[in-house]
Amino acid sequence: MAAAAEPGALGWLGGVSPRSGSPTSSPELGAGSRSRSGPGSGTGSGPERSGARPPGPAAPSHSFRKVTLTKPTFCHLCSDFIWGLAGILCDVCNFMSHEKCLKHVKTPCTSVAPSLVRVPVAHCFGPRGLYKRRFCSVCRKGLEALGLRCEVCELHVHPDCVPFACSDCRQCHQDGHREHDAHLHHWREGTLPSGARCELCRKTCGSSDVPAGVRCEWCGVQAHSVCSAGLAPECTFGRLRTLVLPPACVRLLSRNFSKMHCFRIPEIAVPEPGEPGDGEGWPALGRALTKAVCDPLTGDGEDSADGSVPAGPGREVGAPESGKQTLKIFDGSDAMQRNHFRTVTVPHLARSQEVLEAALRAYYIPEDPQGFQLQALPTPAQLGDTVAAGKVWSAGSTEEEGGRATCQAWVLRALPRTQEILKIYPAWLKVGVAYVSIRVTPQSTARSVVLEVLPLLGRQAEGVEGFQLVEVLMGSRQVQRTVLADEEPLLNRLHEIRQMSLRQMSQTRFYVAESRALAPRVSLFVGGLPPGLSPQEYRSLLDEAVASKAAVVTVSHVYSAQGAVVLDVACFAEAERLYMLVRDTAVRGRPLMALVLPEVLHTKLAPDCRPLLVFVNPRSGGLKGRDLLCSFRKLLNPHQVFELTNGGPLPGFHVFSQVPCFRVLVCGGDGTVGWVLTALEDMRHRLACPEPAVAILPLGTGNDLGRVLRWGAGYSGEDPFSVLLSVDEADAVLVDRWTILLDAHKAAGGEDSEAEAEPPKIVQMSNYCGIGIDAELSLDFHQAREEEPGKFRSRFHNKGVYVRVGLQKISHSRGLHRALRLQVEQQEVELPSIEGLIFINIPSWGSGADLWGSDSDSRFEKPRMDDGLLEVVGVTGVVHMGQVQSGLRSGIRIAQGSYFRVTLLKATPVQVDGEPWVQAPGHLIISAAGPKVHMLRKAKQKPRKAGPPKDARADGAPAPEGDPK
Ligand SMILES: [Zn+2]
Ligand SMILES: [Zn+2]
Ligand SMILES: [Zn+2]
Ligand SMILES: [Zn+2]
Ligand SMILES: [Zn+2]
Ligand SMILES: [Zn+2]
Repeated sequence: MAAAAEPGALGWLGGVSPRSGSPTSSPELGAGSRSRSGPGSGTGSGPERSGARPPGPAAPSHSFRKVTLTKPTFCHLCSDFIWGLAGILCDVCNFMSHEKCLKHVKTPCTSVAPSLVRVPVAHCFGPRGLYKRRFCSVCRKGLEALGLRCEVCELHVHPDCVPFACSDCRQCHQDGHREHDAHLHHWREGTLPSGARCELCRKTCGSSDVPAGVRCEWCGVQAHSVCSAGLAPECTFGRLRTLVLPPACVRLLSRNFSKMHCFRIPEIAVPEPGEPGDGEGWPALGRALTKAVCDPLTGDGEDSADGSVPAGPGREVGAPESGKQTLKIFDGSDAMQRNHFRTVTVPHLARSQEVLEAALRAYYIPEDPQGFQLQALPTPAQLGDTVAAGKVWSAGSTEEEGGRATCQAWVLRALPRTQEILKIYPAWLKVGVAYVSIRVTPQSTARSVVLEVLPLLGRQAEGVEGFQLVEVLMGSRQVQRTVLADEEPLLNRLHEIRQMSLRQMSQTRFYVAESRALAPRVSLFVGGLPPGLSPQEYRSLLDEAVASKAAVVTVSHVYSAQGAVVLDVACFAEAERLYMLVRDTAVRGRPLMALVLPEVLHTKLAPDCRPLLVFVNPRSGGLKGRDLLCSFRKLLNPHQVFELTNGGPLPGFHVFSQVPCFRVLVCGGDGTVGWVLTALEDMRHRLACPEPAVAILPLGTGNDLGRVLRWGAGYSGEDPFSVLLSVDEADAVLVDRWTILLDAHKAAGGEDSEAEAEPPKIVQMSNYCGIGIDAELSLDFHQAREEEPGKFRSRFHNKGVYVRVGLQKISHSRGLHRALRLQVEQQEVELPSIEGLIFINIPSWGSGADLWGSDSDSRFEKPRMDDGLLEVVGVTGVVHMGQVQSGLRSGIRIAQGSYFRVTLLKATPVQVDGEPWVQAPGHLIISAAGPKVHMLRKAKQKPRKAGPPKDARADGAPAPEGDPK
């Protein structure tokens, strides 16, 4: 049948003028459906859930009814208190509204929301946690107990509600399935601070009591859901525009790779027996694929059997009263196999029609009950036989009093259909959800559907061969695409899906897509390999370790110094296999690590865009690192935020290597900053932007470089959004970098046989280098830390500079000046009696102390960070160090220069930028290292004017609870 043009259809194209032959849509599917009391009905038409919400008739498909309020309640639309005793409640999704607000409701009901998703993108749920004052996107109730949060967008859901969540996460990259040029606001409901003001009407639009108001996940604009329709649909990324890596400039082709594999977000949920793991692994997925299901009803199962867990959303508030009964409802064969059910509570005297409606509501199925029935759950004995043996409740059946009392478990089934109306979405539309509706009959095949649809979409001239029908399962954790075989009978396929699970059917969508094959191409970063090998050697090492298939795997980049390679894999299955295998493989005793890397389409970047490459050390500063990681992923594009524990700084620099101009933010302690700066030095010649400016967000203690550059002594919970603003406004300054060559002689006395054959090592230094007492003190502390394996990993470990000498082996005979010799610019320098010798590059040492002092001195230049000179200072012991720390004294000024040679006559503690070790006797040669590094120094006065509180974006992060803003 032909698609009927509908007046509202053009509006859905979000203001983009439709081309001739542009798709039209039919309201038919919804119109014939069960009548709703809400404004407008019909699942077919409606605004997009994410993206433009054009004005015009909306059909949110709620099941509204008048209810008597028993406690203080707020309106989900206007966020105001509902005075009086009457409110309007949706039985399905719990949307609560004033009667007067009803006509403005545009928020779609959970039951139809999946069909309104513009581009299906799966979420990345992190571990379960306590998220106060957040609301479930599915049932709209507060997350009082443990909930789940997407690490990429602000979606919050109850564990029980996960299977019903929409796959409407932020689209952070192009995946080759659809290209999108226009970037639209991505609205998310109900995550606003209570003081938030509407961008359009300037009135309060947020609430901490109910999920009201919307915020764009990219630019942070906030508005009433009604007002959001009045804003321009295009998103310009707001204030962070020049820092964000636009999703249109990132490409990640994948079949089953998801953001999980790029970010390696751990999901610590413990998989229940017989249930696929929640994490990033494929074994679970493989199982799901073979069974043609995914997204099991995680967490929704046995624990709801006692009825204490929220039953279906249709239930009344309060415990089941007398006269009511609680029934277990299973959704199709899949749920029966897994023993996953939801409960509904209905009166004992409820008619079967009412029970069926309640069951459909519990599974958010908005369709006409006429098409469904409840079958008594077969006993295990019956299960082998045909299910039809059981008792049946269908919409029209008469009362069966006896049966209901005895049977408490029912299976929700769709009745077979002889024909139905199916929406077919064109995969090439850049904007909009427009689709065409066609009638599917027993004769319809995938091919006949394509044939029928093409003329309606104006593509008939291109021939049916160029197109295919794709079934897309839009799960909240995974979006799966399956190309249907040409001869596949479609009606059977629909029946099959419904038998498996009705929820799955409501999350399945059919696309007609160009069949030109998407050439698979996956960049796989493999780290943890032995350093210093040739490309051929890495190749054969990988062949040996993981049997990489030469025909489809090429080594595209070799980072020999870091022991890492980037593989170009031209086959999705092989990429998936390698990813899994690499993570379980060790080479020469070291575990390998794998990361799927996106590609930055650098030529598409706007000229004024200088995206920020963010490195976070999640082990720094307690849990703050982890929080910041999450905040920056949400504020920026998560593809520009790198966790340093996933292969260090290299993957980030590799991804950004072609970006013509970018900046860097390092979140971590001095050691982390040094680690990134060293990696930058190693990578510089391979970067299109060889001298990116580096900002610091200091975590933990110490942080001398952070102090000097005004980023503070340590992050104390400042709003991550303003941190990014400060980075954007910071000025670049130059800081010298130094190289220390460590050339150990054979250990005196033959004590340290390990150290004997060590070749010279080079480490980089940007703050200071201490020999003697200060290194010894930090070594004490350090070794304590080292006893907690995994908690601390030094950048020097990879370099192998640690000479394993226990502290007990250091002779504590005092007099460092007798144990070493110092040459400055080839001149021997006489040392006073000291216990510590320190080379300083920046005017902050040991957590903020001024070791050089401020007195002017005719012998030396005034110290600067960028003068190519180091200052050399001595301390006489612990007491002197304490006096320096408290500002009572400064160190003993010894020299200033640019080239130093230190000869250690015995094993001595040495520290560089706060990282200590024991250095075997030999030479230390300190000299300038390459070009100075461009560091960002925080601007002195915040020039930000106190404008309208757009800064409520502040809350964009997983903000501290009850943000007063
Ligand atoms: Zn209201
Ligand atoms: Zn609703
Ligand atoms: Zn929920
Ligand atoms: Zn998400
Ligand atoms: Zn926006
Ligand atoms: Zn407003």
